[in-house]
Amino acid sequence: MATYDYDLFVIGAGSGGTRAARVAAAHGAKVAIAEEYRIGGTCVIRGCVPKKLLVYGAHFAEDLKDAKHFGWDVPDECAFDWTRLRDNVFAEVDRINQAYTATLESHGVEIIAERAVVTGPHDVRLTGGRTVTAERILVAVGARPHVPSCPGHEHGITSNEAFHLDAVPKRILIAGAGYIANEFAGIFNEFKARVTLINRSDVILRGYDESIRDRLLQISMTKGLDFRFNAEFRGIDKQADGSLKVAMTNHEPIEVDCVLFATGRVPNTDDLGLDAAGVELDDKGAIKVDDDNRSSCDSIFAVGDVTNRVQLTPVAIREGQAFADSFYGGKPTKVDYGCIPSAVFSHPPMASVGMTEGEAKSKLGAVKVYLSDFRAMKNVLAGRNERALYKMICDGDTGKIVGLHMIGPDAPEILQAAAIAVKAGLTKDDFDATVALHPTMAEELVLMK
Ligand code: NDP
Repeated sequence: MATYDYDLFVIGAGSGGTRAARVAAAHGAKVAIAEEYRIGGTCVIRGCVPKKLLVYGAHFAEDLKDAKHFGWDVPDECAFDWTRLRDNVFAEVDRINQAYTATLESHGVEIIAERAVVTGPHDVRLTGGRTVTAERILVAVGARPHVPSCPGHEHGITSNEAFHLDAVPKRILIAGAGYIANEFAGIFNEFKARVTLINRSDVILRGYDESIRDRLLQISMTKGLDFRFNAEFRGIDKQADGSLKVAMTNHEPIEVDCVLFATGRVPNTDDLGLDAAGVELDDKGAIKVDDDNRSSCDSIFAVGDVTNRVQLTPVAIREGQAFADSFYGGKPTKVDYGCIPSAVFSHPPMASVGMTEGEAKSKLGAVKVYLSDFRAMKNVLAGRNERALYKMICDGDTGKIVGLHMIGPDAPEILQAAAIAVKAGLTKDDFDATVALHPTMAEELVLMK
């Protein structure tokens, strides 16, 4: 029988790789994990975590204005120190990075701070020149921002760099209208930047329910965000004064101080040596895997964004856990991809689980749709004319809830709990049988018409 240096070699210490390494080691496997940058991956280092902290920071702009209506004397213009927030966020990122590192170490996982490249079905070469072998290799290298290849694209930044800016740009153009674009648009707008979003199509947040994304568009425009649709990026021309002139189709060029590309993410499979082991990629460069996370090479597996299934941290974590339990814990496990809740941390945030109205109609035919369109109590007293919208979609025959979509304060916090009921297959009648918890926004869920 062949002997290897490790039972499992994980490439990439993000959410999926870290979970798989730690759990496999806890099951008794000899595990190493290679990471070329920082333990924690996109979510912890340059994604969900620092972004959410910026969202909190940005929300104070509205809270401080609203505070006056609640009796607090707050100056009309409160000073905001970007560098203080930025550095506090970095400190928190460092703390989580250390916690992740400590967890791996305490489980006996060997951490290798080098880039690793696959050189065969069981072989990995490290940047230092060392080659190691493993019975199984798990590729969990994630994805990186896609930057359109237009002239002058090198003058733009991506979400990776947005956290490191020296100052909030006075004028920022965001290319794309998906998750990252809408989240950063909200953040920078609250920090007083002049924000313009441009998108190649005529919709924002494709895939979300139409009524909910229309509400976000309407509220965002009321807050002063500028949207340009059917605007394909043509190029960036850097001016003598340092400003950036951006050309696009169907619209006049615009001059800004910063361009942020938020035009999707691509799997990090370049130069990873996967062809050496016969690992097949799809047309987007993602590793093709079966429902055991196994690639076309028997000993190589992949989890997380590099497989381009569902680009969400909790999904990568589940895939890593399922892989480790299946192959090292004697507990074959498959990830259930049904009813995955998701959220956009825009201002206000949106959250969703299940089918959109359009999807439900084309899949089920007869559907019943219930709505609650209301102004949160806090917004009423604050004189903030910003309405929340909740939408429930039910199977017309069985009454089972097949989709729940929300926009409004704390929508992601509320939806996480409601998603359990949707996943469990409950009906509108089950919701209505629950007494409202008054006064809350969440009570609208059991009062929908
Ligand atoms: P999204 O897929 O959400 O949006 C991409 C946007 O870029 C769309 O508006 C799309 O336009 C546009 N676009 C795509 N390709 C091109 C191109 N070649 N040229 C011009 N425009 C283009 O991607 P994001 O980058 O915002 O986020 C990546 C992923 O990260 C998300 O899908 C999500 O899974 C994850 N994420 C999750 C978050 C969360 O859970 N809160 C937060 C941030 C990211 P069109 O409408 O025409 O397709």
